[in-house]
Amino acid sequence: MNYRKFQADHLFTGYEWLSNNSVLITSAEGEIVDIVPAETAGEGISRFTGILSPGFVNCHCHLELSHMKGIIPEKTGMVDFLVKVIQQRGFDAEIIKNAIEDAENSMLQNGIVAVGDICNTPNTVELKKAGRLLYHNFIETMGFIEGTALQRFEASRAVYDQFARLYRNPADSNSIVPHAPYSVSAALFQLITRFPGNHLLTIHSQESAAEREFIEKGAGDFHRLYQALGIDISFYKPTQQQSLAAWLPNFLPNQSLILVHNTNTNRDDLEYIAHCPLPIANLFFCVCPNANEYIGNPLPDVDLLRAYKAAIVVGTDSLASNRQLNILAELQTLRHHYPHIEIKELLQWATLNGAKALELDDVIGSFEMGKTPGVLVVNEDLSKVERLV
Ligand SMILES: [Zn+2]
Repeated sequence: MNYRKFQADHLFTGYEWLSNNSVLITSAEGEIVDIVPAETAGEGISRFTGILSPGFVNCHCHLELSHMKGIIPEKTGMVDFLVKVIQQRGFDAEIIKNAIEDAENSMLQNGIVAVGDICNTPNTVELKKAGRLLYHNFIETMGFIEGTALQRFEASRAVYDQFARLYRNPADSNSIVPHAPYSVSAALFQLITRFPGNHLLTIHSQESAAEREFIEKGAGDFHRLYQALGIDISFYKPTQQQSLAAWLPNFLPNQSLILVHNTNTNRDDLEYIAHCPLPIANLFFCVCPNANEYIGNPLPDVDLLRAYKAAIVVGTDSLASNRQLNILAELQTLRHHYPHIEIKELLQWATLNGAKALELDDVIGSFEMGKTPGVLVVNEDLSKVERLV
């Protein structure tokens, strides 16, 4: 058997630092074989400057929006951003296809090994056939008018079926998911959460202060979104509940859920999660700081999430709201705003936690025997990443 042997200044396993005397051994294909002291590793050790880390997991992306890179101006705020995304979706198919390929190439280069990818269209099906990255496809559905719920759901199911054909066990790699609490009716929520096999879900959650105002008071800037879309929501009456309490109970006890953005999540929300007998088995909090900055939203209160022992994972969101699909760039921004958080913790969010959130931790996320997590070397100041395997 041909082995590959790696040693660097630091070795992060996905869980912890190991001594810099440790040598990571993989098969030629990148399967983790062992971690041993240098004295017993034998010949042919490749030595690197920096940190050896498992490959990164991007828990929130919209690959199909890659053609929108640089199109929407920065700092528009949430509602104008959404209006512009909806207006700009129609592009030439060839441009969309090429942009998707370029974006996947950049993710590979940036050390990403798996992606939780939001899909409103089948535009990424062809690319995903090649299997260059692991994907969980979150087929996204939205519709705030109760009467259209079934029609909206069936349209998403048709997209789901196109992705499902790529996989032997479709439910392991595909789900139908709600877009956001302000864009999905109770009837549509029911159809989504009861879809057979739907066990891993995600939702854009508390991305802006306007969302809370709309959910809790039925007021604010989101009315402008529906006006712009020409949708009459005069029927809408808020439940008068706290924003998470108003919709989180829609999910079922056996379902895992990735809440994406959390920029407006506060202590009351986390108290609600901590104390209410929540029906959700596993809850992950995905942070996408560069997209928050691009749109002009605040960053999530990461220290508050940490204080509540929230399982944090990292996403890039799309090239409509980010300059690049690069998890390391997200970690740099987190490091800039939260310099007291140890690199080990940041790397864990980007590797093992992400793998757990996408239910891929039997394959990736850490240097454990039999896994093929990818091997990266990351500069100690998080300035650069190189993919070794
Ligand atoms: Zn998103």
